[in-house]
Amino acid sequence: MTAASNTATAGASRRARPVIAIDGPAGAGKSTMAAHLARRFGFLNLETGAMYRALALKAIEHDLGFEDEPALLELAEETRIALQPQLEGNIVLLDGVDVSRRVRDKDVTSAASQVSVHPRLREWMVAQQRKMGEAGGVVMEGRDIGTVVFPDAEVKIFLDAAPEVRGNRRYRQVMPGDAPAEAAVIEAAIIEDLKERDARDRNREDSPLRPAEDAVILDSTGLTLDEVLARAEAIVRSHIEQPA
Ligand code: C5P
Repeated sequence: MTAASNTATAGASRRARPVIAIDGPAGAGKSTMAAHLARRFGFLNLETGAMYRALALKAIEHDLGFEDEPALLELAEETRIALQPQLEGNIVLLDGVDVSRRVRDKDVTSAASQVSVHPRLREWMVAQQRKMGEAGGVVMEGRDIGTVVFPDAEVKIFLDAAPEVRGNRRYRQVMPGDAPAEAAVIEAAIIEDLKERDARDRNREDSPLRPAEDAVILDSTGLTLDEVLARAEAIVRSHIEQPA
């Protein structure tokens, strides 16, 4: 039995199997942080963005308009989306088919950001996400986890960084190795995409992207990855180790 589960049996089960909510804009490093914390503390990492992406992919396949909320909701109700947490991210199953790679494509990324503005569709997603996380012991990342999905989450981190920094990190993920001649153009396009998605997420009426009042805001702009992960780990550890 680990020290954490000992604490649980002493009556602080909420602390031993917490919900850790990680929210923030696109490209801030939420998935990396969620995977790291999940490994470190033995929790499940759940990427809620992948659920919006999976539904968006199905909408593309069915040729639905991204603004057609009733049709999207009908589609959602006949859809099974499952996340299988792995050491590095999630396998995404759409009606039993592994779409983990496809949902990262540009067209699906843009579609996910557009379908996610619809309140009734969000309700459907949130209901599923609550079921996935209600037992605790999860690191759930997205845009509205600390504000809407689990407003009582024991730990809330809002991970932010300047758009240029997020864009540059994304660029280096998709373009490893020697930079092509048109590098600056590609990077600028990635930054523009991120800004567009952010603006949509921050300005939508339902569940806009914003830090929960009780979230710890972590700005990674001037930090290395190791520094960011160490800070996040310290935040979770200080919660878990608090006396009951
Ligand atoms: O996190 P990720 O980039 O995979 O999310 C894809 C899109 O899904 C985001 O651009 C955002 O619009 C939407 N999303 C959301 N609420 C969440 C997670 C993602 O609206 N909890």
